[in-house]
Amino acid sequence: IRKPIVNQRTSRMSLPYTNPSLSVAERVENLLSLMSVEEKVGQMLQLPANMPENLDKLENWNVGSYLHCTGTMVEELQQRAAKTRLGIPLIFGIDAIHGHCFENNGTVFPTQLALSCAWSKQLSQSMARVTAIETRACGLHWTFSPVLCVGRDSRWGRINETFGEDPWLIGELAAAAVYGYQGDNLASNDTILACAKHYVAYGEATGGRDAYEAEVSPRKLLSLFLPPFEKAVKEAKVATLMVGYQAIDGVPCSANSWLLREVPKNLWGMDGFIVTDWDNIGSLHDKQRVAEDLRHAAKIAVESGNDMIMTTPSFYQHTIDLVKDGELDIALIDDAVSRILKYKFELGLFEDFRYTDLSKKDQILGNPDHWQAALEASRQSLTLLQNNGILPLSDNSKPKILLCGANADDVVAQLGDWSFGSMQAGAADDSYHQKDAITLRQGLQAAADVGRCELSYVRGAAPAEAEFEEIASAVSAADNSDVIVACVGDTLSQHGEFHDRADLDLSGQQQAMLEALKATGKPLIVVFMASKPLTIGWVKQHADAIVCAFNPGAKGGQALSELLFGELNPSGKLTISFPQHVGQSPVYYNKYEGWHARLSERTNNQERYIDMPLLPLFSFGEGISYSEFSYSELTVGTPCLAANSDLSQGEALKVSVNISNISQRSGVEIAQLYIHDCAASVTVPVLQLRGFERFELAPGETQKVEFSVPFADLALINAQLQKVVEPGAFKVFVGPSSKAEDLLSADFKVA
Ligand code: BGC
Repeated sequence: IRKPIVNQRTSRMSLPYTNPSLSVAERVENLLSLMSVEEKVGQMLQLPANMPENLDKLENWNVGSYLHCTGTMVEELQQRAAKTRLGIPLIFGIDAIHGHCFENNGTVFPTQLALSCAWSKQLSQSMARVTAIETRACGLHWTFSPVLCVGRDSRWGRINETFGEDPWLIGELAAAAVYGYQGDNLASNDTILACAKHYVAYGEATGGRDAYEAEVSPRKLLSLFLPPFEKAVKEAKVATLMVGYQAIDGVPCSANSWLLREVPKNLWGMDGFIVTDWDNIGSLHDKQRVAEDLRHAAKIAVESGNDMIMTTPSFYQHTIDLVKDGELDIALIDDAVSRILKYKFELGLFEDFRYTDLSKKDQILGNPDHWQAALEASRQSLTLLQNNGILPLSDNSKPKILLCGANADDVVAQLGDWSFGSMQAGAADDSYHQKDAITLRQGLQAAADVGRCELSYVRGAAPAEAEFEEIASAVSAADNSDVIVACVGDTLSQHGEFHDRADLDLSGQQQAMLEALKATGKPLIVVFMASKPLTIGWVKQHADAIVCAFNPGAKGGQALSELLFGELNPSGKLTISFPQHVGQSPVYYNKYEGWHARLSERTNNQERYIDMPLLPLFSFGEGISYSEFSYSELTVGTPCLAANSDLSQGEALKVSVNISNISQRSGVEIAQLYIHDCAASVTVPVLQLRGFERFELAPGETQKVEFSVPFADLALINAQLQKVVEPGAFKVFVGPSSKAEDLLSADFKVA
């Protein structure tokens, strides 16, 4: 039964919800009281705007949100929404996850995985702020970012979207990104809503299989996967969460009211709303089969605490029927709708920010300041993994460089996923971003143009092509060069949603190309440009230098060229381990002690499989510089902390270490702090990251670097699933990486 008609804009103006001087809570309450069941359920629906059949539903179904809406359609739909009975504005969501990349002119940052290697909260925040400004300029209000999934298995297609493998670091970088997107005032033209996704443990899918079951115990959920989300909700006040596709212990995340209602809303105090992922509610019936039909799925959806339903059209009518048949409590709908309306008011959509002046868009998207921020992010994301002294190249000698590999000149491979329009990997508009991107080839060509080197390029092997017919020309070009730069990795069709891999070796003929080039005897520098760690043991063994450039953004080629010539001193450190072989997967640094592998005499006390080491090829935290740093005098300022059952009130652990730049070149170091609880009531990981500091040191300079670890960060989840700091001995480690040989250690205890 519809409420009295209020179809004139003027007659609406006397209603309290249109009055900006009332509080948001008062306005929400008033608006809700005027809404029919149909209008309320419509607010909970989000449909893709790029599917024409959804557009009429705006008025017919009172749709509350569209996703994947670009261009002038944004304005058209918003105008139409204003003419509906109550004139409730639409909220538009978009996947602007490393820049507003679905716009051809948008600024493209490195992917989250690449960006995380800078270990910089400030960069994470500035990437998000630039993205917010560009997204708002297009009339959109909400990005489905950041991704808080823990990336522990490189077979998974979506590793590139994560901040790497460590939950604590993910929490820090994600909180900074949320703040960058949302700022302090949502009713402003430089902020949008963030969405922490995919809630929760989506990346832990068994076998690296996307949208599959996650085998996660309650303790692991509380220890590893929920904490980054808790930080995003409690500290960064993220407005929205997106629910993962998968089931945990048989319960799809979208059907888990403990996960969606109890934890974030009741326990963490989240006042925002929860959106499903693509057709999660349909999947409850037709894929996961926990709902006998779509009506049942709609009931589960609302009862479990999904507030906005992405792309399940059947939800609309079934939910209305359920309410009218007395099978669904309208209070649950009211709660969901209030949460959505609250943020529509907060965003200023009922007032100034309902319409965006799209004529300003071209000046805002990709403006020079934004590209400068992206270039800085590209620079800091690069990670030097190996260098026998070949780098930096000296331009005095004007080296003759042979550049090989398709990825050296391929914007699609360089930018990675979510960069080319509103389709996922493999089905993208690859004409996008071509004019702004600088490939490695273009970056080196610019150096050649000003006389710093001579450059020849032989395309050679490509990741997704079986053929490689240019071995002979590559090899003969090598004869005539001083040094070879080979760019290898993967490309867009090999990662992203629906693109998990069972084989992590270099694909196509890339390995054959490297071997042929190596056989020429010329120095070989490998630029690894990929969405994820691959098994590049041969490269580690044979390359003179290795630079890791996970999809390094549109300006990645410029940053790489600067690094090769030494204008840029690399500072990145890996946030994800590289497996030696796919059979090691998953491999991550915060593992548990395993003793049979270690104690076996045959393996000489080394942790290993019988046929290969257990240790990764490259470790979490690893990365070198053109400078050299040394660590000394690790000192614990608080050797004995008092026990405290109120974790937020406990004393912080204070640690300091001296770090010296023992080289001739100033450089940036990222010092890492790990802890280990030596005797606990449950098994705990051998190391857990609990701090990092990023700073620059002049040649010869020593700095005393201080860390303060909040008491709560010493906690574990015990067998009763309580978060506690247990009295007893602990160790603290500080060093340039997570590798045992890199770490200084000291003892402290909780009395
Ligand atoms: C992905 C989400 C994304 C959504 C909307 C889904 O397939 O899992 O990460 O935000 O699509 O594009």
